[in-house]
Amino acid sequence: MSFPQPDITPLSAPYWDGLKQGKLLFQQCRACGNRWLPARDACPNCLKREAEWVESAGRGRIVSWVVYHVSYNDAFKDRVPYDVTLVELDEGPRLLSNIVNGDAGRKLSLHAPVALQIEHEGDLALARFKLV
Ligand SMILES: [Zn+2]
Repeated sequence: MSFPQPDITPLSAPYWDGLKQGKLLFQQCRACGNRWLPARDACPNCLKREAEWVESAGRGRIVSWVVYHVSYNDAFKDRVPYDVTLVELDEGPRLLSNIVNGDAGRKLSLHAPVALQIEHEGDLALARFKLV
């Protein structure tokens, strides 16, 4: 089974295109400075529609994680157990990801520093992280 594909829209396309170019981008509000992921057309803080895309330095910390021991999609049946980890970038936005060297969650700890590691699944580039 093929890797599940995201629903890429004109709004989210810069995020996915950025990853293909080796950059992790997030949105930043020109009005209030708020920063966020995933893409949305209005600032979740002030609701103005003045977002710009900004490149992350690719550093962050682990906020939370779970370990999947059961595959709910056949595409992942050969990958269990694996982690799904919430990472907070140093710039503030949070995103769900995987830790590539986390030994299926056994090496993860709260606030552990991580660094971006872009990986490819077919034509898709994904923002994953490694413990540093
Ligand atoms: Zn704002």
